[in-house]
Amino acid sequence: MPDIIKLLPDSVANQIAAGEVIQRPASVVKELLENSIDAEASLITIIIKDGGKTLIKVTDNGSGMSETDARMCFERHSTSKIKNASDLFKIKTMGFRGEALASIASIARVELKSRIKDAQLGTEVIVEGSVIESQNPCQCPQGTTIAVKNLFYNTPARRNFLKSENIERSHIFNELVRVALANPLTGFKYYYNNKLVLQIDQSNLIQRIAGLFGKNTNQRLIPVEEKTDIISVSGFVCKPEFAKKRRGEQFFFINKRFVKVPYLNHAVENAFSELIPEGSHPSFFLFLETDPSNIDINVHPTKTEIKFQNESDIYKILMSAIKRALGKFNISPSLDFERETAFDDVLFDKNRPVIPPTIKVDQNYNPFETGKSGSKFLSDRKKPKNWENLYPDVDKTGIQENNQQGSKNIFGDFLKSDLNQESHKTPGENEKKFWQLNNMYILTPVKSGLMIIDQQRAHERILYEKFLNKYENQKPSSQQLLYPAKIELIESDASLMKEILQHTIALGFEISTFGGNSFVINAVPTEVKETENIDQLIEDLLENYKKHLSEPKLEINKKISRALAKNQSIKHGKLLSDKEMNTLVGELFTCSMPDVSPGNKPTLFILSYQELSDRFK
Ligand code: ADP
Ligand code: MG
Repeated sequence: MPDIIKLLPDSVANQIAAGEVIQRPASVVKELLENSIDAEASLITIIIKDGGKTLIKVTDNGSGMSETDARMCFERHSTSKIKNASDLFKIKTMGFRGEALASIASIARVELKSRIKDAQLGTEVIVEGSVIESQNPCQCPQGTTIAVKNLFYNTPARRNFLKSENIERSHIFNELVRVALANPLTGFKYYYNNKLVLQIDQSNLIQRIAGLFGKNTNQRLIPVEEKTDIISVSGFVCKPEFAKKRRGEQFFFINKRFVKVPYLNHAVENAFSELIPEGSHPSFFLFLETDPSNIDINVHPTKTEIKFQNESDIYKILMSAIKRALGKFNISPSLDFERETAFDDVLFDKNRPVIPPTIKVDQNYNPFETGKSGSKFLSDRKKPKNWENLYPDVDKTGIQENNQQGSKNIFGDFLKSDLNQESHKTPGENEKKFWQLNNMYILTPVKSGLMIIDQQRAHERILYEKFLNKYENQKPSSQQLLYPAKIELIESDASLMKEILQHTIALGFEISTFGGNSFVINAVPTEVKETENIDQLIEDLLENYKKHLSEPKLEINKKISRALAKNQSIKHGKLLSDKEMNTLVGELFTCSMPDVSPGNKPTLFILSYQELSDRFK
């Protein structure tokens, strides 16, 4: 048999490496920025066009490269950052594998210009598909400019895999934010499609955070400072009241390198656990410094994953550092417990003995599970035709008539007939029909037992269907704001906002772009009750929208309607009048799917008489 093993040509080997290191335009941005930081630049300019597909250009005023280095840097395993294996254990630079430029040059056209301090002239190198096309002397300032054009031009599978321009744009911005946070002593200028989007000067960390996340951010931060033999922790955490629904603003840097280490996030969230509501997450910007020999950054080619030798110690150190920081600022769990007691006082008359409610709500009850005895669910969506079996006494003729009018009113009339029967037994128009339990549930007797409705989920369902209807009928109704609200979003949110802008208009918003990442809101849908806090509304909307980004089947209008319904719904804890309960229940049963929330959780269930009598046996 002839020999069949061959060495891969460099260009192919580089492309394979590129597959690992360069997943998308943002990866190029990250590598170029890190090289500029390693070259000790104090100002870096980034120019991006079309989500990075046509142009990524990074200019720095760092050390620059000699004529030979400017050519050498495109060779695989060419690096100035390590010389031998032992250097691997003391890496303080961002790069060290010498792979990035070789990889990028194998899948794009790269134009490099660079000049070192003492040279009269700089040098320009042009590489395409790993082949050096030319090298010539050129005029240029000290430092390096690398322009990457037509990324993935020779790897169509990769190019086609790229997401929409806005998504790629937001990935790029995220990379920029990470590098900018870790290097406040470096100034950045960022142009997107010829517009200056961000300019942040050399500063300290807190100014840098404010520069990236908005001026108010610094009032929300608490400093964290802890030094131990193994590791030192510094940076900021947000005060608990500013916890967010999203995990977006959570940053960990180890030796200035942005990393994703889930158990470290867990340590921080753990320190906050008694201070913030479930489902909320603290923001933080935390910097860990440790001897490089303690960590193995080699576990992942893009170096965002990291392994510590002594994970559990670091977990504990971090958690106690955060707790101490919170404690210093008088934000301790006991405060929160006090607030809870006060809340209870509003609910109960102080002179009355507090009797805990005895109705046990089966949280795990699955309405779609058949054959479960006890509580029954109004509609069984698996077999919608059989629903009337649950109510053998209901006048079938009436139901069929309703059916012809469309499915919408089935439940409404259903309930009415159920409630009417109640009122036959207990005459009197003003007879109380609804009770509220714990400011969370609405209780109402129905023919077969006691119906218990979750007020928040029910209202979410009502609003959700209202919004969807508006959308489908293209009949948005708006209320003009007294004063238009101007909001400033971070880059990644702004690009998402642009993506959903048209859809929000279909719901009754009037939002327009206002240059850069600013938006002006002139009107909101009529259903929006509080028009004071528009920032929060938009933030919630984007947040919920993001949660569904990975559900391509869920249409944008549904995502937005869900988000808005959640935001505007009556919440748990709100006391409702009889009239409000009446309206809510009435509206719920005009919905097409009254029994589940938009997120597919039960909105109500019926505790049957049978179950009740079983309990008294
Ligand atoms: P690494 O950063 O892992 O060493 P790269 O492929 O990113 O590998 O870069 C190769 C080498 O090119 C670097 O080690 C550095 O010497 C040089 N280099 C790259 N970018 C710059 C820059 N902006 N300024 C100065 N030197 C640079
Ligand atoms: Mg590098």
